[in-house]
Amino acid sequence: MSNQDTIFTRIINRELPADIVYEDDKCIVIKDINPRARIHLLVIPKKPIATLFDLTPEDKDLMGHMMLLLPQLAQSQNLDGFKTQIHTGESGGQEVFHIHIHLLGN
Ligand code: 5GP
Repeated sequence: MSNQDTIFTRIINRELPADIVYEDDKCIVIKDINPRARIHLLVIPKKPIATLFDLTPEDKDLMGHMMLLLPQLAQSQNLDGFKTQIHTGESGGQEVFHIHIHLLGN
């Protein structure tokens, strides 16, 4: 473990436990530890990008991959609608500085 590692990198590396819903070579999906909806998932890239401000053109495919995953995850949870949130920066309410997409559904 590096001191730079976020909670999410430590979950990806299995250094911390989490309820893992889905995983592939590019991302992991876990249940939020403090759910704000009946279904509250976090879609997290394995690449530790801190915020949306830190994206580069080479991240296009990765971000597209995560967007395409959202409706699939919602359907696998039997949701016919859902909300997404990406918090960016402290003033944007971001607490964990490793990009993640919230998927919320009731
Ligand atoms: P954000 O950075 O988008 O504001 O929020 C981070 C989210 O991560 C919060 O909803 C919080 O409940 C969740 N979270 C923080 N630490 C952990 C953890 O150790 N495990 C899981 N599963 N979720 C976490």
